Amino acid sequence: MRLAFSSSVISVSFLIKRRRFTCSTTPSTFTLMATSPIITTAPPSFHHNHCRKKDKIIVIMGATGTGKSRLSIDLAIQYFPSEIINSDKMQVYKGLDITTNKISQHERQNVPHHFLGEFDSQDGELTPLEFRHLAHLTISDIFCRKKTPFIVGGSNSFIYSLLVEEYNPKFDAFDAFNSVSSSLRYNCCFLWVDSSVRVLYEYLDKRVDQMFETGMFEELQAYFRESEVLKDSVSSLSRSGLRKAIGLPEFERYFREYPAEKVESFREWDHVRRVVYEEAVREIKENTRQLAKRQIGKIKKLRDGGWDIRRLDATAAFTALLMCKQEEEWRSVWEKQVLEPSVKIVKRFLEK
Ligand code: ATP
Repeated sequence: MRLAFSSSVISVSFLIKRRRFTCSTTPSTFTLMATSPIITTAPPSFHHNHCRKKDKIIVIMGATGTGKSRLSIDLAIQYFPSEIINSDKMQVYKGLDITTNKISQHERQNVPHHFLGEFDSQDGELTPLEFRHLAHLTISDIFCRKKTPFIVGGSNSFIYSLLVEEYNPKFDAFDAFNSVSSSLRYNCCFLWVDSSVRVLYEYLDKRVDQMFETGMFEELQAYFRESEVLKDSVSSLSRSGLRKAIGLPEFERYFREYPAEKVESFREWDHVRRVVYEEAVREIKENTRQLAKRQIGKIKKLRDGGWDIRRLDATAAFTALLMCKQEEEWRSVWEKQVLEPSVKIVKRFLEK
Protein backbone atom coordinates (compact mmCIF):
# COMPACT_ATOMS: atom_id res chain seq x y z
CA MET A 1 0.00 0.00 0.00
CA ARG A 2 1.31 3.38 -0.90
CA LEU A 3 -0.28 6.60 0.18
CA ALA A 4 0.84 10.00 -0.91
CA PHE A 5 -0.30 13.35 0.41
CA SER A 6 0.38 16.71 -1.12
CA SER A 7 1.91 19.39 1.03
CA SER A 8 -1.33 21.38 1.21
CA VAL A 9 -3.52 21.06 4.26
CA ILE A 10 -5.16 17.69 3.97
CA SER A 11 -7.21 16.17 6.70
CA VAL A 12 -7.14 12.45 6.18
CA SER A 13 -8.77 9.87 8.32
CA PHE A 14 -7.82 6.44 7.20
CA LEU A 15 -6.95 3.04 8.40
CA ILE A 16 -3.49 1.67 7.96
CA LYS A 17 -3.92 -2.04 7.99
CA ARG A 18 -0.37 -2.78 7.12
CA ARG A 19 2.68 -3.51 9.03
CA ARG A 20 6.25 -2.32 8.74
CA PHE A 21 6.07 0.76 6.67
CA THR A 22 8.59 3.37 5.80
CA CYS A 23 7.99 7.09 5.95
CA SER A 24 9.80 9.56 3.84
CA THR A 25 9.27 13.27 3.57
CA THR A 26 10.11 15.49 0.68
CA PRO A 27 9.35 19.19 0.27
CA SER A 28 6.29 18.46 -1.82
CA THR A 29 4.92 15.16 -0.68
CA PHE A 30 4.60 13.04 2.35
CA THR A 31 4.80 9.41 1.44
CA LEU A 32 3.84 6.48 3.53
CA MET A 33 4.72 3.08 2.21
CA ALA A 34 3.40 -0.01 3.87
CA THR A 35 4.63 -3.49 3.26
CA SER A 36 2.94 -5.83 5.71
CA PRO A 37 -0.21 -5.91 7.85
CA ILE A 38 -0.84 -4.41 11.24
CA ILE A 39 -2.04 -1.01 12.18
CA THR A 40 -5.61 0.07 12.61
CA THR A 41 -5.59 3.65 13.71
CA ALA A 42 -6.67 7.00 12.52
CA PRO A 43 -3.46 8.98 12.15
CA PRO A 44 -3.60 12.72 12.30
CA SER A 45 -4.23 15.08 9.48
CA PHE A 46 -1.07 16.09 7.71
CA HIS A 47 -0.91 19.84 7.67
CA HIS A 48 2.82 19.89 7.26
CA ASN A 49 4.98 17.60 5.29
CA HIS A 50 7.83 18.05 7.66
CA CYS A 51 8.26 18.12 11.41
CA ARG A 52 9.74 21.32 12.75
CA LYS A 53 12.92 19.94 14.17
CA LYS A 54 13.92 20.86 17.68
CA ASP A 55 10.42 21.89 18.60
CA LYS A 56 9.76 21.50 22.27
CA ILE A 57 8.17 18.45 23.74
CA ILE A 58 7.63 17.28 27.31
CA VAL A 59 8.40 13.68 28.24
CA ILE A 60 6.97 12.24 31.43
CA MET A 61 8.80 9.11 32.47
CA GLY A 62 8.60 6.78 35.43
CA ALA A 63 7.99 3.23 36.51
CA THR A 64 4.55 1.70 36.30
CA GLY A 65 2.10 3.15 38.79
CA THR A 66 4.03 6.29 39.66
CA GLY A 67 1.35 8.76 38.55
CA LYS A 68 2.67 9.81 35.14
CA SER A 69 -0.83 10.05 33.66
CA ARG A 70 -2.11 12.04 36.61
CA LEU A 71 0.77 14.50 36.30
CA SER A 72 0.24 14.91 32.57
CA ILE A 73 -3.45 15.69 33.05
CA ASP A 74 -2.70 18.10 35.91
CA LEU A 75 -0.22 19.96 33.71
CA ALA A 76 -2.44 19.85 30.63
CA ILE A 77 -5.64 21.15 32.16
CA GLN A 78 -4.18 23.69 34.53
CA TYR A 79 -1.19 25.11 32.75
CA PHE A 80 -0.14 24.06 29.27
CA PRO A 81 -2.39 23.51 26.24
CA SER A 82 -1.23 20.09 25.20
CA GLU A 83 -2.04 16.68 23.76
CA ILE A 84 -0.79 13.41 25.13
CA ILE A 85 0.97 10.66 23.23
CA ASN A 86 0.88 7.40 25.16
CA SER A 87 4.21 5.57 25.26
CA ASP A 88 3.20 2.47 27.21
CA LYS A 89 3.61 -0.42 24.82
CA MET A 90 0.73 -2.43 26.32
CA GLN A 91 -1.72 0.47 26.50
CA VAL A 92 -1.49 1.09 22.76
CA TYR A 93 -3.76 -1.92 22.19
CA LYS A 94 -7.52 -2.16 22.47
CA GLY A 95 -8.80 -4.12 25.43
CA LEU A 96 -7.66 -5.16 28.91
CA ASP A 97 -8.12 -1.60 30.16
CA ILE A 98 -7.94 -2.50 33.85
CA THR A 99 -5.13 -5.03 33.43
CA THR A 100 -2.94 -2.58 31.54
CA ASN A 101 -4.04 0.28 33.77
CA LYS A 102 -5.23 2.68 31.07
CA ILE A 103 -6.37 6.09 32.17
CA SER A 104 -10.18 6.21 31.93
CA GLN A 105 -12.16 8.57 29.68
CA HIS A 106 -13.35 10.44 32.75
CA GLU A 107 -9.80 10.90 34.10
CA ARG A 108 -8.61 12.20 30.72
CA GLN A 109 -10.74 15.30 31.27
CA ASN A 110 -11.08 15.93 27.55
CA VAL A 111 -7.34 16.22 27.02
CA PRO A 112 -6.72 14.54 23.63
CA HIS A 113 -4.83 11.26 23.90
CA HIS A 114 -3.10 9.44 21.08
CA PHE A 115 -2.05 5.78 20.84
CA LEU A 116 -4.25 4.77 23.72
CA GLY A 117 -6.20 1.62 22.90
CA GLU A 118 -5.99 2.37 19.17
CA PHE A 119 -4.35 -0.77 17.85
CA ASP A 120 -5.73 -4.24 17.48
CA SER A 121 -3.20 -6.68 18.90
CA GLN A 122 -4.49 -9.38 16.54
CA ASP A 123 -2.94 -7.40 13.70
CA GLY A 124 0.51 -7.93 15.19
CA GLU A 125 2.85 -6.16 17.53
CA LEU A 126 3.50 -2.44 17.27
CA THR A 127 7.27 -2.24 17.10
CA PRO A 128 9.37 0.62 18.46
CA LEU A 129 10.25 1.55 14.86
CA GLU A 130 6.58 1.80 13.91
CA PHE A 131 5.89 3.81 17.03
CA ARG A 132 8.75 6.14 16.09
CA HIS A 133 7.22 6.85 12.69
CA LEU A 134 3.62 7.25 13.80
CA ALA A 135 4.35 9.30 16.91
CA HIS A 136 6.61 11.60 14.89
CA LEU A 137 3.69 12.40 12.57
CA THR A 138 1.37 12.96 15.49
CA ILE A 139 3.87 15.32 17.11
CA SER A 140 4.00 17.39 13.89
CA ASP A 141 0.25 17.58 13.90
CA ILE A 142 0.09 18.68 17.55
CA PHE A 143 2.56 21.48 16.80
CA CYS A 144 0.29 22.58 13.98
CA ARG A 145 -2.52 22.91 16.45
CA LYS A 146 -0.22 25.17 18.49
CA LYS A 147 -0.11 22.79 21.39
CA THR A 148 2.69 21.07 23.26
CA PRO A 149 3.09 17.31 22.81
CA PHE A 150 3.46 15.35 26.03
CA ILE A 151 4.96 11.88 25.70
CA VAL A 152 3.69 9.87 28.64
CA GLY A 153 4.30 6.22 29.44
CA GLY A 154 6.65 3.68 30.95
CA SER A 155 8.04 1.95 27.86
CA ASN A 156 11.51 3.30 27.57
CA SER A 157 12.17 1.38 24.38
CA PHE A 158 9.32 3.36 22.76
CA ILE A 159 10.55 6.66 24.19
CA TYR A 160 14.09 5.92 23.06
CA SER A 161 13.08 4.91 19.54
CA LEU A 162 10.98 8.05 19.14
CA LEU A 163 13.47 10.57 20.43
CA VAL A 164 16.91 9.63 19.23
CA GLU A 165 18.21 11.27 16.08
CA GLU A 166 19.29 7.98 14.58
CA TYR A 167 17.44 4.83 15.52
CA ASN A 168 18.61 1.34 14.66
CA PRO A 169 15.95 -1.28 15.52
CA LYS A 170 18.60 -4.01 15.50
CA PHE A 171 20.61 -2.34 18.23
CA ASP A 172 19.35 -2.70 21.82
CA ALA A 173 20.62 0.43 23.55
CA PHE A 174 19.48 -0.94 26.91
CA ASP A 175 21.63 -4.03 26.67
CA ALA A 176 24.24 -3.96 29.43
CA PHE A 177 27.10 -3.88 26.91
CA ASN A 178 25.71 -1.06 24.80
CA SER A 179 25.45 2.65 25.41
CA VAL A 180 22.57 5.00 24.72
CA SER A 181 22.66 7.88 22.28
CA SER A 182 22.21 11.38 23.66
CA SER A 183 21.63 12.96 20.27
CA LEU A 184 17.91 13.75 20.18
CA ARG A 185 15.71 14.96 17.35
CA TYR A 186 13.50 17.19 19.51
CA ASN A 187 14.15 19.73 22.20
CA CYS A 188 12.98 17.69 25.21
CA CYS A 189 12.10 18.42 28.80
CA PHE A 190 12.20 15.19 30.77
CA LEU A 191 10.29 14.73 34.00
CA TRP A 192 10.78 11.49 35.96
CA VAL A 193 8.18 10.67 38.59
CA ASP A 194 9.91 8.42 41.11
CA SER A 195 9.61 7.15 44.65
CA SER A 196 11.75 5.28 47.12
CA VAL A 197 11.72 1.63 46.03
CA ARG A 198 10.32 0.36 49.34
CA VAL A 199 7.30 2.68 49.21
CA LEU A 200 6.80 2.11 45.48
CA TYR A 201 6.76 -1.69 45.88
CA GLU A 202 4.27 -1.45 48.72
CA TYR A 203 2.11 0.88 46.69
CA LEU A 204 2.28 -1.39 43.63
CA ASP A 205 1.10 -4.38 45.70
CA LYS A 206 -1.83 -2.31 46.87
CA ARG A 207 -2.57 -1.18 43.35
CA VAL A 208 -2.77 -4.80 42.16
CA ASP A 209 -5.32 -5.51 44.92
CA GLN A 210 -7.30 -2.45 43.83
CA MET A 211 -7.19 -3.59 40.21
CA PHE A 212 -8.78 -6.88 41.25
CA GLU A 213 -11.37 -5.01 43.30
CA THR A 214 -12.32 -3.00 40.22
CA GLY A 215 -12.75 -6.05 37.98
CA MET A 216 -9.39 -7.27 36.71
CA PHE A 217 -10.28 -10.93 37.28
CA GLU A 218 -13.55 -10.59 35.35
CA GLU A 219 -11.70 -8.76 32.56
CA LEU A 220 -9.13 -11.56 32.31
CA GLN A 221 -11.88 -14.17 32.42
CA ALA A 222 -13.64 -12.49 29.48
CA TYR A 223 -10.35 -12.22 27.60
CA PHE A 224 -9.53 -15.92 28.05
CA ARG A 225 -13.10 -16.85 27.13
CA GLU A 226 -13.06 -14.89 23.91
CA SER A 227 -9.46 -15.20 22.76
CA GLU A 228 -7.56 -18.10 21.29
CA VAL A 229 -4.82 -18.02 23.92
CA LEU A 230 -5.67 -21.35 25.52
CA LYS A 231 -6.16 -23.15 22.20
CA ASP A 232 -2.57 -22.36 21.38
CA SER A 233 -0.45 -24.94 23.19
CA VAL A 234 2.76 -22.94 22.76
CA SER A 235 1.17 -19.61 23.57
CA SER A 236 3.57 -18.89 26.39
CA LEU A 237 6.49 -19.14 24.03
CA SER A 238 5.00 -17.18 21.18
CA ARG A 239 3.61 -14.25 23.09
CA SER A 240 3.57 -10.94 21.39
CA GLY A 241 1.77 -7.64 21.80
CA LEU A 242 -0.97 -7.55 24.36
CA ARG A 243 -0.44 -11.22 25.18
CA LYS A 244 2.64 -10.16 27.15
CA ALA A 245 0.65 -7.87 29.45
CA ILE A 246 1.25 -8.66 33.10
CA GLY A 247 -1.81 -10.62 34.20
CA LEU A 248 -2.19 -12.86 31.15
CA PRO A 249 0.78 -15.21 31.54
CA GLU A 250 0.23 -15.33 35.29
CA PHE A 251 -3.43 -16.35 34.93
CA GLU A 252 -2.90 -18.81 32.09
CA ARG A 253 -2.48 -21.80 34.41
CA TYR A 254 -5.57 -20.80 36.36
CA PHE A 255 -7.79 -20.59 33.28
CA ARG A 256 -6.40 -23.81 31.82
CA GLU A 257 -7.46 -25.60 35.00
CA TYR A 258 -10.67 -23.65 35.55
CA PRO A 259 -12.06 -22.74 32.13
CA ALA A 260 -13.24 -19.16 31.80
CA GLU A 261 -16.55 -20.36 30.28
CA LYS A 262 -17.59 -21.83 33.65
CA VAL A 263 -18.41 -18.89 35.87
CA GLU A 264 -18.67 -19.87 39.53
CA SER A 265 -18.85 -17.55 42.46
CA PHE A 266 -15.81 -17.31 44.74
CA ARG A 267 -17.75 -19.01 47.55
CA GLU A 268 -18.05 -22.19 45.49
CA TRP A 269 -14.30 -22.47 44.90
CA ASP A 270 -12.46 -25.31 46.59
CA HIS A 271 -9.17 -24.89 48.43
CA VAL A 272 -6.96 -25.89 45.47
CA ARG A 273 -8.64 -23.39 43.19
CA ARG A 274 -8.14 -20.61 45.69
CA VAL A 275 -4.47 -21.52 45.99
CA VAL A 276 -3.97 -21.41 42.21
CA TYR A 277 -5.72 -18.03 42.13
CA GLU A 278 -3.68 -16.60 45.00
CA GLU A 279 -0.49 -17.84 43.36
CA ALA A 280 -1.38 -16.00 40.12
CA VAL A 281 -2.03 -12.77 42.04
CA ARG A 282 1.25 -13.19 43.91
CA GLU A 283 3.10 -13.61 40.60
CA ILE A 284 1.46 -10.48 39.21
CA LYS A 285 2.69 -8.50 42.21
CA GLU A 286 6.19 -9.90 41.86
CA ASN A 287 6.32 -9.29 38.09
CA THR A 288 4.99 -5.76 38.51
CA ARG A 289 7.79 -5.03 40.97
CA GLN A 290 10.32 -6.50 38.55
CA LEU A 291 8.90 -4.38 35.72
CA ALA A 292 9.21 -1.24 37.86
CA LYS A 293 12.79 -2.15 38.74
CA ARG A 294 13.72 -2.65 35.07
CA GLN A 295 12.02 0.58 34.05
CA ILE A 296 13.88 2.57 36.70
CA GLY A 297 17.14 0.94 35.58
CA LYS A 298 16.49 2.07 32.01
CA ILE A 299 15.68 5.65 33.04
CA LYS A 300 18.91 5.77 35.05
CA LYS A 301 20.83 4.48 32.07
CA LEU A 302 19.37 7.26 29.89
CA ARG A 303 20.21 9.86 32.53
CA ASP A 304 23.74 8.53 32.91
CA GLY A 305 24.00 8.56 29.12
CA GLY A 306 23.44 12.32 28.99
CA TRP A 307 19.66 12.79 28.91
CA ASP A 308 18.76 15.75 31.09
CA ILE A 309 16.14 13.95 33.19
CA ARG A 310 14.70 15.80 36.19
CA ARG A 311 13.63 13.52 39.03
CA LEU A 312 10.52 14.34 41.05
CA ASP A 313 10.25 12.52 44.33
CA ALA A 314 6.69 11.32 44.91
CA THR A 315 7.55 9.19 47.96
CA ALA A 316 5.59 11.35 50.39
CA ALA A 317 2.53 11.30 48.13
CA PHE A 318 2.60 7.50 47.91
CA THR A 319 3.13 7.24 51.65
CA ALA A 320 0.02 9.37 52.16
CA LEU A 321 -1.91 7.10 49.79
CA LEU A 322 -0.71 4.00 51.62
CA MET A 323 -1.78 5.48 54.92
CA CYS A 324 -5.24 6.02 53.41
CA LYS A 325 -5.11 9.74 54.07
CA GLN A 326 -8.06 11.84 52.93
CA GLU A 327 -8.07 12.78 49.24
CA GLU A 328 -7.34 16.46 50.03
CA GLU A 329 -4.40 15.58 52.22
CA TRP A 330 -2.87 13.32 49.61
CA ARG A 331 -3.58 15.89 46.90
CA SER A 332 -1.78 18.69 48.75
CA VAL A 333 1.33 16.51 49.18
CA TRP A 334 1.23 15.60 45.49
CA GLU A 335 0.90 19.23 44.47
CA LYS A 336 3.77 20.37 46.65
CA GLN A 337 6.16 17.56 45.84
CA VAL A 338 5.39 16.75 42.24
CA LEU A 339 3.07 19.17 40.48
CA GLU A 340 4.52 22.52 41.56
CA PRO A 341 8.16 21.62 40.80
CA SER A 342 7.01 20.17 37.45
CA VAL A 343 5.18 23.36 36.54
CA LYS A 344 8.30 25.40 37.30
CA ILE A 345 10.51 23.14 35.22
CA VAL A 346 8.13 23.06 32.25
CA LYS A 347 7.48 26.81 32.35
CA ARG A 348 11.18 27.60 32.37
CA PHE A 349 11.74 25.17 29.53
CA LEU A 350 8.96 26.54 27.34
CA GLU A 351 9.98 30.16 27.94
CA LYS A 352 13.62 29.54 27.03
P1 ATP B 1 11.35 -4.46 27.04
O1 ATP B 1 12.50 -4.13 26.15
O2 ATP B 1 11.69 -5.43 28.13
O3 ATP B 1 10.11 -4.84 26.28
P2 ATP B 1 10.37 -1.88 27.33
O4 ATP B 1 10.94 -0.69 27.99
O5 ATP B 1 10.31 -1.94 25.89
O6 ATP B 1 11.06 -3.15 27.86
P3 ATP B 1 8.21 -2.05 29.15
O7 ATP B 1 7.20 -1.04 29.08
O8 ATP B 1 9.24 -2.01 30.21
O9 ATP B 1 8.88 -2.10 27.76
O10 ATP B 1 7.45 -3.42 29.18
C1 ATP B 1 8.08 -4.64 29.32
C2 ATP B 1 7.04 -5.69 29.63
O11 ATP B 1 6.35 -5.34 30.84
C3 ATP B 1 5.92 -5.85 28.63
O12 ATP B 1 6.27 -6.69 27.60
C4 ATP B 1 4.81 -6.42 29.50
O13 ATP B 1 5.03 -7.77 29.77
C5 ATP B 1 4.95 -5.66 30.77
N1 ATP B 1 4.16 -4.42 30.78
C6 ATP B 1 4.58 -3.17 30.49
N2 ATP B 1 3.61 -2.27 30.61
C7 ATP B 1 2.52 -2.95 30.98
C8 ATP B 1 1.17 -2.59 31.26
N3 ATP B 1 0.73 -1.33 31.15
N4 ATP B 1 0.33 -3.56 31.63
C9 ATP B 1 0.73 -4.81 31.73
N5 ATP B 1 1.98 -5.23 31.48
C10 ATP B 1 2.87 -4.34 31.12
